[in-house]
Amino acid sequence: MSIAVVGVEPHERFPGVYVVKFEDGSEKLATRNLVPGHKVYGEQLVKWEGVEYRIWNPYRSKLAAAILKGIKVMPIREGMRVLYLGAASGTTASHVSDIIGPRGIVYAVEFAPRVMREFIERCGVRGNMIPILADAQFPALYRAVVTEVDVVYADIAQPFQSKILADNSDAFLNEEGWAMIAIKAMSIDVTQEPSETYRREINTLKERKFEINDVVHLEPFDEAHAFVVAQRVRETR
Ligand code: SAM
Repeated sequence: MSIAVVGVEPHERFPGVYVVKFEDGSEKLATRNLVPGHKVYGEQLVKWEGVEYRIWNPYRSKLAAAILKGIKVMPIREGMRVLYLGAASGTTASHVSDIIGPRGIVYAVEFAPRVMREFIERCGVRGNMIPILADAQFPALYRAVVTEVDVVYADIAQPFQSKILADNSDAFLNEEGWAMIAIKAMSIDVTQEPSETYRREINTLKERKFEINDVVHLEPFDEAHAFVVAQRVRETR
């Protein structure tokens, strides 16, 4: 039997993110469901004062984990355009879709066809998500589809992920736009200590004109992961 909901409050710092309070005193992150009645990854749906929310699982989504680990900045807001690299079957990207709402767009890039099929089955009803079957290493492939974006989000667990993020930012990110990146140390390079990989990836972002806003480690929700938020530095002429 599910535990009764006794309240839903906006997150104290991040608009579009909510905290659901349960009868037993527990609290969970949530987003307002853009498509009421539809689940994406088996998440719990809860209703409060006529509005439906989707519980946001930090063990399944690194962005939820980063919020619970106290990241200082979470730049995604209502109406924004987000280029999401490594959308997989849409777990985190669907919560981004909830936050940006019907006026925003998530361009969801994924290169594995089977995974992209699942994405379309799960997120096809979401009118603000555009699936793009492509390798994020080659942003020119989707130049005809993607417009200027406010945020580039990368979770592709590839070597030199920050370079891929920066190449996509050169192509699509607006001046002073944001980068968000989940760095999975072990799968990026098994021969290095996690901290070395983090340092290398963060240095790449700095070299590519990003100012680092915050870095959090995602344990216990995710092992050997860091989550970085950075902002493009305006060019001075
Ligand atoms: N971000 C997802 C979430 O939180 O719901 C999980 C992403 S999973 C860790 C990484 C995904 O990136 C995989 O689905 C993989 O197929 C995809 N991927 C890896 N390299 C890629 C590339 N170069 N271009 C596009 N997708 C890529």
